[in-house]
Amino acid sequence: MFDEITEKFEAAWKKLRGQDKISDSNIQSAIREVRRALLEADVNLQVVKEVVEQISKKALGTEVVAGVRPDQQFIKVVYDELVKLMGEANQPLAEVEPTPTIILMAGLQGTGKTTASAKLALHLRKLDRSALLVATDVYRPAAIDQLVTLGKQIDIPVFELGSDADPVEIARQGVAQARAQGINTVIVDTAGRLQIDQNMMAELARIKQEIQPNEVLLVVDAMTGQEAANLTRTFHEQIGITGAILTKMDGDTRGGAALSVRQISGQPIKFIGVGEKVEALQPFYPERMASRILGMGDVLTLVEKAQEEINLADAEKLQEKILSAKFDFDDFLKNTRMMKSMGSFGGLLKMLPGMKVNDAQLQQAEVQLKRCEAMISSMTKQERQDPDLIGKSPGRKQRIAKGSGYTNQDVTKLVADFQKMRTLMQQMGQGKMPNMPGMGGF
Ligand code: GDP
Repeated sequence: MFDEITEKFEAAWKKLRGQDKISDSNIQSAIREVRRALLEADVNLQVVKEVVEQISKKALGTEVVAGVRPDQQFIKVVYDELVKLMGEANQPLAEVEPTPTIILMAGLQGTGKTTASAKLALHLRKLDRSALLVATDVYRPAAIDQLVTLGKQIDIPVFELGSDADPVEIARQGVAQARAQGINTVIVDTAGRLQIDQNMMAELARIKQEIQPNEVLLVVDAMTGQEAANLTRTFHEQIGITGAILTKMDGDTRGGAALSVRQISGQPIKFIGVGEKVEALQPFYPERMASRILGMGDVLTLVEKAQEEINLADAEKLQEKILSAKFDFDDFLKNTRMMKSMGSFGGLLKMLPGMKVNDAQLQQAEVQLKRCEAMISSMTKQERQDPDLIGKSPGRKQRIAKGSGYTNQDVTKLVADFQKMRTLMQQMGQGKMPNMPGMGGF
């Protein structure tokens, strides 16, 4: 995600690298690169103008701080502006008393509205908030089925009256049922069209009028760039939104939508959709998004995700082992399994700062991991705990090769790579940055 815009920003930092201070003359070319990066990311023109103006003002006015390079200082200025542009902090979903909180979902067809409704219900359940999904898209009978199926899958009730009923009436009755049953939140999925359509808007306005929602969430496809800005403007003007959900952020988006929504509507992005699965929804954090866009890597999300899955004591033990270079094959296996349990290996790699990996490389990495696992499984406990033993003994290598179906050379390479990695990790753990390709130039 954001590979392109990240690369373009890199050109801006480069303009200042090696300079001893930010000056009128050197800042201009860096700012030109920032403008170009934003425009190529399909950020709305008006938004680009405003943000670039702010960045110029701030960059020139910034005091020089000892020990900070001008390019780093400039990155910080741009980062702060992007965070501001996206709304500073995460804005949680409304919750009202008495229940139910009413959420109206709006958006074009195919943006992921129905999926997002289900994702939201699941998210709420994790917060101990019960939910009822309401299916009002009577124009595509498949849409009702889709919501019913999703509801079953996550065990969330779905209210529907088939495809002959009036959408406004379905919404009204859905909300009444949630109220009667003491359900915490009701999520009303609505019909979309391929383009803005006045009938669709009018119906949405009538539903809104009828149920008086606490939230109107516009579902925006992150892949649509500039168009997302226009869509946001129209929906906000005609219906009035309280926030947005940006879907398909797992795709190859250029970032424009993420940067435009807030500035255009004054309303925050509250969640992002990061996959087709119902679990693939994350709260939107402007700081994290800004650091992703700038290519600083979303270390925060990575850490948070890791903390959810990994027992802290385990992590500390692991760190100790890394620092003292006692990391062994057992730890390696445990670690890769832990990483797999945290989601796809590829998704994780992509979050690391400066990592530029394509799908082919990722696939190769996964295949490589499987090979490693096969060979490690053929080792004795003693060998796993002391990998250096294998390097010294041709007999051991041969046995492992035979047992795993690989060659002696494969085993030799595994052990050598492992020893290299162990040294590298130890250096990194001690705060030394080893010279690794692709680690960026911060
Ligand atoms: P609707 O017409 O707006 O209700 O859209 P749907 O919920 O039916 O979604 C349209 C398509 O987009 C489906 O194939 C979804 O699986 C897919 N989709 C929805 N959200 C995401 C997402 O965050 N990431 C990806 N990759 N696909 C998504």
